[in-house]
Amino acid sequence: MEQKIVDEIRKIVDESRVLTDKPDLYAYGFDASIHHAMPDVVVRVKNAEEVEKIVGIANQYLIPVVARGAGTGLSGQAVPIEGGILLDMTSMNRIKEIHIEDLYCVVEPGVIYAKLNEALAEYGFFFPPSPGSGDVCTIGGMIAANASGMRAIKYGATRDYILGMEVVFPHGRVRLGSRTLKNSAGYQIERLMVGSEGTLGIITEATLRISPLPEKRGVALASFDDVVKAGEGVAAIIGSGLIPSALEIMDHVCIQAVNNAMDIGLPDVEAILLIEVDGKEGEVRENIKKVAEILKGRVKNIEFTYDDEEMANLWKGRKGVLPSLSRYGEDRVSVSLADDMCVPISKIPYAIKEFQEIAKKYNIIIGTYGHAGDGNLHTKVLINPKEEDEWKRAEKAVAEIYKAVERLGGIASGEHGIGISKAPWINGDVETMEMIKKAIDPNNIMNPGKMTQWKGSIISHLRYR
Ligand SMILES: Cc1cc2nc3c(=O)[nH]c(=O)nc-3n(C[C@H](O)[C@H](O)[C@H](O)COP(=O)(O)OP(=O)(O)OC[C@H]3O[C@@H](n4cnc5c(N)ncnc54)[C@H](O)[C@@H]3O)c2cc1C
Repeated sequence: MEQKIVDEIRKIVDESRVLTDKPDLYAYGFDASIHHAMPDVVVRVKNAEEVEKIVGIANQYLIPVVARGAGTGLSGQAVPIEGGILLDMTSMNRIKEIHIEDLYCVVEPGVIYAKLNEALAEYGFFFPPSPGSGDVCTIGGMIAANASGMRAIKYGATRDYILGMEVVFPHGRVRLGSRTLKNSAGYQIERLMVGSEGTLGIITEATLRISPLPEKRGVALASFDDVVKAGEGVAAIIGSGLIPSALEIMDHVCIQAVNNAMDIGLPDVEAILLIEVDGKEGEVRENIKKVAEILKGRVKNIEFTYDDEEMANLWKGRKGVLPSLSRYGEDRVSVSLADDMCVPISKIPYAIKEFQEIAKKYNIIIGTYGHAGDGNLHTKVLINPKEEDEWKRAEKAVAEIYKAVERLGGIASGEHGIGISKAPWINGDVETMEMIKKAIDPNNIMNPGKMTQWKGSIISHLRYR
């Protein structure tokens, strides 16, 4: 990038917030995916005015601009594969307003999910999407990826809580949506930003709907001697009309990985389900009993807890799956390739069975876990990243997994987004997506090369040397 452009940026933002040293650029080249690429300059923006001016410069000189929240994306969305300006959004972290009686709050995009919920808890409210990365990921990153998590089955995903937004598009700063719970006044462009992965504009403010916290929670831990039986149990629970507030599955690979890495003591069985119900005290106990009845005949063992500490321990184990998988065995790391498929709930047992057969066929280890209650399965491929042949086998296995998912009526990503890692399998009408992208970003400066624009192999721009 030409020095005069950096000099122009330095006229907008203090010197200390414009980074061009190689170690800084290298560090900002990562997210939590397998990919890495360095930007030309990192700018730690503090407000919407700065963002607007920098996007203006990028549009004038035709330079890529990539927004970065906490960098926890698993598909390479925030990795600047064409260089350019990386906007670090984490200093825009003010919770600007909380309006309990109107059921909304207004936040800057760099607010961390857990910090927002700490603030809302004081009023007995919460922002429910609950991604596993919630202690660190930002609201801007969540909107751009339509993040969700274990409570989506009952409470929905980030998109279900978007009321309004302020966005900087290449043509300028605009306000989208409203502060009202309902809105049928024209195109819902604020919703278009959901899942846009920084390819349309930069979110500088969000107005989010909030929900009251439930009075009580209870968790059942059900053990199975067959992962397919656990999958059938999921479909039986949902089919009964009981909607749990979380319904998570972990197979033997994941259980073993967590037990190796953490002191949680999960039962050493083929699969477990963690089923959480919430609501009023009596209703919670009643529904936990119903869960046990539904699973009778399929389950090896079932235990319940209403104790906050015990429940927190179980969820710690579930959230620990992803980091623990990299400690499953010597030289193995968990790579996020086919890691986030979503199938109709009744197809969960078939999907798990197919994944197991594909793993066997290509002689690789695949751990399966995830938000089974809404059909969202996370498989992690465990390979030695230094072995080229393992990458090749993994790539073939991943392609077969996506074909199986498509056959079952599913999609490539339920919550982690497309970026590079899932680009060849993006669902929906690509032509219309490309028309929208061209109309809003005619110079293709907003996070270029991602989603519909990525045409190469998923095994590229690798972080592993
Ligand atoms: C251990 C672990 C567990 C995870 N669990 C879950 C889970 O349960 N559910 C889930 O959904 N995801 C999960 N993820 C993935 C990830 O945390 C989410 O996608 C999260 O929403 C990303 O937020 P971020 O702030 O890290 O965004 P980043 O990774 O920094 O960016 C993600 C995308 O958002 C764009 N972006 C960021 N800020 C803005 C902005 N202000 N305006 C426009 N675009 C912007 C970026 O350009 C990029 O395209 C997990 C990740 C890890 C590492």
